[in-house]
Amino acid sequence: MSGHQEKSARQGMRIGHGYDLHRLEPNGSDGAGRAFVLGGVEIEHDRGPVAHSDGDALLHAVTDALLGAIGQPDIGQLFPDDDARNESLDSRVFLGEAVDRVSRAGYRVGNVDATVICERPKISIHKELMRTNLASGLGVGVDRVNLKGKTHEGVDAIGRGEAIEVHCVVLLLASDD
Ligand SMILES: [Zn+2]
Repeated sequence: MSGHQEKSARQGMRIGHGYDLHRLEPNGSDGAGRAFVLGGVEIEHDRGPVAHSDGDALLHAVTDALLGAIGQPDIGQLFPDDDARNESLDSRVFLGEAVDRVSRAGYRVGNVDATVICERPKISIHKELMRTNLASGLGVGVDRVNLKGKTHEGVDAIGRGEAIEVHCVVLLLASDD
């Protein structure tokens, strides 16, 4: 292999995909749902994610996309939900661990594109704050983070407001490129 080819094999880019879904349940005193948190933003809503951690589906999907891009175990393997240390954990801890691993693997974040699908609450008014939070957690400029919100058109569990779903892709660039 020529020197140039070796360099390309070591450097270049990696792509990762992340997906998460949480059931949303009433979060009153007798409900199983937590407070509704998405992208580190707590939003007033009468339902919230059922989760071992704080249930931030956006941060979970981004975390898994980062880990997937470097071929490492996913969030559920790194932070098992039967481990009491992860109970109610702030999902920024998961993201931080993934960002550290990306950096140790020799990569940096090129860009992130995520789609949040939920019927309620409306996330559009919180989108810019979520982007800012994500960018800060990833250690990149806001222009490298994109976020889209969609409803499920009233169809299925998500359309009935019983779940939230997030899809995400991330591009990593070799740190020394
Ligand atoms: Zn999750």
